[in-house]
Amino acid sequence: MKEIKGISTGGGVVVGQPFIYRPEKPVVFYKENVDTQKEIERFILAAAQADREILNLATKLRDKGKNAEGDILDAQRALLEDEEFYHKTIQVIKQEVISAESAVQKVSDQIVEEFEAIEDSYFRQRAADVQDISVRLIYILTGTTPVSLADLNTPLIVVAHDLMPSDTAALDPEMALAICTEAGTATSHTAILARGLSIPAVVGCGPLPVKTKNTLIVDGSTGIVIINPKPSMLNDVKKRITSQADERKYLLSRVTLPTVSTDKVKIDMLANVGGVIESKLITKYGAEGIGLLRTETLFFEENTLPTEEEQYKMLLDIANALSSKMAMTIRMLDVGGDKPLEALQSSSTTEQNPFLGQRGIRFLLAHPELMRSQLRALLRLSAKRKIKIFFPMVSILDEVQKFQKFVDIIIDELKRENIECDQNIERGIMVEVPSAALNISNLISEVDFVSIGSNDLTQYTLAADRTNENLAHIANYFDPSILWLIQRIIEGGEKNHKDVEICGEMSGDPLAIPILVGLGIRTLSMSLARIPLAKEIVRTVSVKQCHTLAHNCLKAPNATEILKITKAWCKKNYATLNLAYEE
Ligand code: PEP
Ligand code: MG
Repeated sequence: MKEIKGISTGGGVVVGQPFIYRPEKPVVFYKENVDTQKEIERFILAAAQADREILNLATKLRDKGKNAEGDILDAQRALLEDEEFYHKTIQVIKQEVISAESAVQKVSDQIVEEFEAIEDSYFRQRAADVQDISVRLIYILTGTTPVSLADLNTPLIVVAHDLMPSDTAALDPEMALAICTEAGTATSHTAILARGLSIPAVVGCGPLPVKTKNTLIVDGSTGIVIINPKPSMLNDVKKRITSQADERKYLLSRVTLPTVSTDKVKIDMLANVGGVIESKLITKYGAEGIGLLRTETLFFEENTLPTEEEQYKMLLDIANALSSKMAMTIRMLDVGGDKPLEALQSSSTTEQNPFLGQRGIRFLLAHPELMRSQLRALLRLSAKRKIKIFFPMVSILDEVQKFQKFVDIIIDELKRENIECDQNIERGIMVEVPSAALNISNLISEVDFVSIGSNDLTQYTLAADRTNENLAHIANYFDPSILWLIQRIIEGGEKNHKDVEICGEMSGDPLAIPILVGLGIRTLSMSLARIPLAKEIVRTVSVKQCHTLAHNCLKAPNATEILKITKAWCKKNYATLNLAYEE
């Protein structure tokens, strides 16, 4: 038996077998003194197979109208006849008497190193092509297949170093009993994904020495992972699983009750979603609509950029999963930093400091064609149902003015083409950078609403990477600096008569909800699975009491003190709720 303490993300406890997801490149064992003629034949056959595979893929892309992506694959096919790659590999097999896969690895490493040393995006793309084709060839030559989350077809616990936003597109939530990762924090994307899909998860565990045959207990509430537990532990866990299920059933049975505090203040409870799967669960969890649609997931589903038409269809599918009266607040593409967009080799791969680089709106403004196709798809949807749009990672006023002008231009463009859209579509920004919170009065006067992104606001205010498990104690949204900034943003909204919503992970935290309500927040958007409990909490408290709590917290010197005050308050006020806030 081995016990590992990671970071809890909520979601209860489960027992099961692991699905070990390590999608790294196949390992090449360097083989010398080989039969070179045989190795050259193996290489030629592998190259022919790779060529067929890529041709197939390119045809499928072109059939979907993705000609540019098809052209990229053609460039990869050309490498299979290229002097520097194809012929050089054969030459290396002959001269160095090494295996085909060893030669592919050696030649591709050399080319990639040379190309990456050249400061030019053309050569970087060529380096990526060489890397791609060499991985494909090595998979073919070693007879291995890449591990994919799509292979998960029985209910198992996903064990991985970390999950990238792009991995999640392949994950069938019914098949993931739990998620357990070596890296990450409570606000990293793995944690957000898990909460959204109601999957128990423990992140930031450090090395996970898990083998396929092991049994695991993953406790999303305490952050404990046990490898090969004792039989007595299994009995206890089974009892907890039953009581967890009862509590869940109780909360789910009450989601249609109004979310009004004991002193009759209505709090809107919206959901953060990434796509159609989660949108279909909105009613089940009692969300009153979508407060944050993370559109980047639509871009991660394939390795290529979706066309305007494809985006429009995906958005329409999500809209159709909601009733027409429900809120649908859609965030423009938010990539860069911890969310690289592989289909565009987003600049974060080459930036020295991607978290402070071309992310969110900075990336959009630098890629006007991408922004144009997304805005056109969104505006076309606005003719069918009411939507609101907002922009991520805004840090200065100039960005707000630029995107506003851009939206106006696209509305005019659609008008000229006689395509209907909502010309008064509500436009907002995320406040997730300290400069935006500090300059709120000037920014908010240019938009219709703002939504606080507490995940990034915490990361940037405390200068602590939200994905780094070693900094989780610093990147804490209960730090007074975060509460002061939130208070300032709310005041900016009140002065300008604009709505201030919140959509970071803080908004679904049972301990943070009374503080946020007490500070004046009236719209909370959170991971779906957290909504039933959040609604019950709001129904249990009065805004007046929350206000007193918030003001006591604002006077506290650090997160530890704020948590102490809040835990004591919650124990008193949520006494009837069986909450997972106990340590
Ligand atoms: C946030 O930063 O709080 C937020 C909601 O955006 P994301 O988690 O997608 O970066
Ligand atoms: Mg963010």
